Amino acid sequence: MILSHFYQDEEIQDIADFVGDSLDLSKKAANTTCDIIVFCGVKFMAEVAKILSPQKKVILPDIRAGCSLEESCPPKKFKVFKELHPEHTVVSYINCSAEIKSMSDIIVTSSNAERIIKSFPLKEKIIFAPDKHLGRYLNKVTGRNMLLWDGSCVVHETFSEKEIVKLKIRNEDAEIISHPECPEVILNKSNFIGSTSALLNYITKSKTNKFIIATEPHIIHQMKKIEPNKIFISAPGSNGDCSCTNCPFMELNTLEKLKDCLLKVNPEIYLDEQLMINAKKPLIKMLKLS
Ligand code: SF4
Repeated sequence: MILSHFYQDEEIQDIADFVGDSLDLSKKAANTTCDIIVFCGVKFMAEVAKILSPQKKVILPDIRAGCSLEESCPPKKFKVFKELHPEHTVVSYINCSAEIKSMSDIIVTSSNAERIIKSFPLKEKIIFAPDKHLGRYLNKVTGRNMLLWDGSCVVHETFSEKEIVKLKIRNEDAEIISHPECPEVILNKSNFIGSTSALLNYITKSKTNKFIIATEPHIIHQMKKIEPNKIFISAPGSNGDCSCTNCPFMELNTLEKLKDCLLKVNPEIYLDEQLMINAKKPLIKMLKLS
């Protein structure tokens, strides 16, 4: 089974058996009867597939496809931070390493984080890692005061408030829709904030015909398929129209590398068995609450 994230190149999305966000992809990985999962996304996503289906082979077109958000939370430093706050529950965003997952009480994605955090009592002490922007947004919408790890995504931090405002002035009829990994200044300018799946639902529900999209721009491929008559403009970075906001890690996977990995059934994801057992517990908790 070929799984693809919405942030992959258009041609990869088009030949995948299933295209989705992190939550849907992890559900597919957990439930597939296929022997081999080809994961077109970044490494932590392929690791989730392996953790949920350890008996299956999970391959990734380019094993170097990492993630800046994952890198911003080194397991050794996080362990020390966690030990300083022993009475806190650890809620981790799925965009983290298997080691961070193994130290977490529950995993969330941007589609289910608000609901899962609201399921905890108001007085519960919570650490949220690794994305500070998503954490700040979740604190606001859930009324919590979670301790935030200082991590971020290089793509969502590229968007420029000034350039988005200039673009909005030129496109007054457009709505700005953003992923909650964006910094607060961008979210404050947005008409709608949501996960990739929520953004895709929103463009259909909204009566607006033009949208400025503040997330990785490859999602526009799916938006055009769903709403071919609507207009989608990628939100700019600080270099205006010339700035690239593609995820440099997702871009490492190409159609050619996908062909090679299918032929060689390699590179394969390997993880320590005990690590997989420990990381699976918070993932299963998330899937039960989703
Ligand atoms: Fe990581 Fe950001 Fe790329 Fe997503 S878009 S894989 S969070 S670097």
